[in-house]
Amino acid sequence: MDAQRTLRRQISCAGIGLHSGNKVHLSLKPAPADFGIRFRRTDIGDHEVPATVQHLAGIQLATGLARNEVSVETVEHLLAALVSTNIDNVLIELNSPEVPIMDGSAAPFIYLIQEAGVKALSVPRKYLKIVRPIAISRGDKRIALYPSDHFKVTYSISYDHPLLRHQSRTLRITEETFIEEVAPARTFTFLKDVEMLRQNGLALGGSLENAIVLGETGVLNNALRFEDEFVRHKILDAIGDLALVGYPVIGHLVAHRAGHALHTEFAAKIMEETHAWRLVAAPPEDATVPVAMPAKIHTPRLAS
Ligand SMILES: [Zn+2]
Repeated sequence: MDAQRTLRRQISCAGIGLHSGNKVHLSLKPAPADFGIRFRRTDIGDHEVPATVQHLAGIQLATGLARNEVSVETVEHLLAALVSTNIDNVLIELNSPEVPIMDGSAAPFIYLIQEAGVKALSVPRKYLKIVRPIAISRGDKRIALYPSDHFKVTYSISYDHPLLRHQSRTLRITEETFIEEVAPARTFTFLKDVEMLRQNGLALGGSLENAIVLGETGVLNNALRFEDEFVRHKILDAIGDLALVGYPVIGHLVAHRAGHALHTEFAAKIMEETHAWRLVAAPPEDATVPVAMPAKIHTPRLAS
């Protein structure tokens, strides 16, 4: 059985909100099977907001959720870390509306999860397996999911900037590849946009400590973590936004010039397109293992 998982014990950290600049305390707590991933605002009456497409709200530069006018913002990096380490059930407590930005990547959340440890529960996990393509395009922005035996992401970006013209990468996402190739990639912004963001009361907690900043001719930070750190971060964002479907996905996600608005619109569309996927219990690895079947027995083919 491929069992659902939660954390072995509670773990906490403190940081600041990227947009609010406020200090925030974050705790990750073990949760029972079929609980899912839920946020709880301890500063306003322990209100809970499940991390699902039904509670999407306020998508701008980051992904926000809300329920009964209680909101949580900038959820995507933490969600990407949780789903990529196969944590199905966890209660995330915050004493402020915004998940701390940490260093702008998912690596600090991976560290927290590894410190807490993982515990298998006695209920099987279900996967959302794509059986027919699903796609959205908005101008030259595109996102799609295709049937595949594994969860893979292909992302491409194009900007009119001397350091960042075109980057593209395909990765099969496993716990190992996520931790090694995706989690450390930091969020990025353009210096010319920073002033505008600040005037609109955004990015007040932003600094070179938690974002790559691209100036006219180069990166203001000392060094990049990967030559193509930008597209890797877009893969991270897409995984976090796709987590809102509530199940690990088996399929090939292909995105071009997308962002949180398109990622989350797409997550909602997946839930509507029920003919394009099935919930399956088998772990992805089973798909590559040939199943020995007696030659003469015909399995009835079920209409999908
Ligand atoms: Zn991001």
